[in-house]
Amino acid sequence: MDVVELTQQLVRIPSVNPMGLDHTDSPYLEWRVTEFLEQLFTQQQIPSQRQYVLPKRDNIVALFDPHGAKGANGLLLLEAHQDTVPVTGMTIEPFSGKNEHGKIWGRGSCDIKGGMATMLAVCSRLMKEKPADAPTILMACTINEENGFDGIQHLAESWSTGQFPLLDRLPDAAIVAEPTELNVVVAHKGTVRWKCHTTGKAAHSSSPDQGENAFYTMARVLTALEKYANRICQSEASYPLLTPPSLSVGTIAGGVSVNTVPDHCTIEIDRRLWPNEDADAIYQEVIQCIQQETNLGDRITHDPPYLKSLGLASDNNQSLSQRFIAAAESTGIASHAIGVPFGTNAGTVATAGIPTIVFGPGSIEQAHTADEWIAIDQLRTAEEILFRFCANGLK
Ligand SMILES: [Zn+2]
Repeated sequence: MDVVELTQQLVRIPSVNPMGLDHTDSPYLEWRVTEFLEQLFTQQQIPSQRQYVLPKRDNIVALFDPHGAKGANGLLLLEAHQDTVPVTGMTIEPFSGKNEHGKIWGRGSCDIKGGMATMLAVCSRLMKEKPADAPTILMACTINEENGFDGIQHLAESWSTGQFPLLDRLPDAAIVAEPTELNVVVAHKGTVRWKCHTTGKAAHSSSPDQGENAFYTMARVLTALEKYANRICQSEASYPLLTPPSLSVGTIAGGVSVNTVPDHCTIEIDRRLWPNEDADAIYQEVIQCIQQETNLGDRITHDPPYLKSLGLASDNNQSLSQRFIAAAESTGIASHAIGVPFGTNAGTVATAGIPTIVFGPGSIEQAHTADEWIAIDQLRTAEEILFRFCANGLK
């Protein structure tokens, strides 16, 4: 199984995340990729299992067991998400999978179909070459990473309730695919997101004194949030390898017409968390801060968080990352343990008690871009690194 051809095949199958919108038609949702993977596993006579998560959106998990050891040589989880971000605004054909100038082009090539192809190619090579120390591999391809992490949460829940897919035990280690330029991510931030509303009283704009403008109230909220954001990013505290926590307001909505005093305004708040920060506690901290700064009482309300994703802490993955970096360096490249500000599925996997790192070909700079691509030499080197790591065994 050639990693480059497989990347091209995966890019040519649209699996665009609807990003919370109600889309059931082409090219949305992951089901075509799930079907492709299921066929691929069947052709290779690899046992696989679907996990229903959402309508037309299944995780698929496969068990590659080169020695039929059922995990006696260790069980390694390899995880890659099936979805991509939308294609709106792309300047190249999104699903061409074209091979040109040493790169594979198209949506998902970098994030993360190239990484998924790398893992699949390594699994198939392990089955063929059967290195003596190779562990059993659980390959999980999950849904909805780009907008809610439902797929990985579902997989992690199945472990916690004893419903182990395909093999009745928890993996000993995990590698989550994301573009890291062949470095090893050992720490990343988590996220909490929610909506904040201000309310007022509608009135004709010719008599604004008869109303209460919800926008003016929101302006005071925004000023409080800007102050809070500046304060946390200059905090004295530190977390190894990570930049300070951050807060951003990403959307604002309200108003019916220019001649009406608005009685409602809504913003969406995105707070990035260190792995040792609790999402619910931080949510309360921000709410209290707004209240103290504005003193506007019940004219400001907050929905409960609609997204909470966990950060990845670096305290449980040191020996795993060291062994992985040694495998990378044996191929003649420099690979470093790094921290990144963006979230991945690794935080959720690690919380199940599994030492977890993030690794993959390509750079996050090319992910989600208008002309997304991945360099072929990154794909081939990533395959060699991951193969060597697996061949060395988990012990
Ligand atoms: Zn990704």
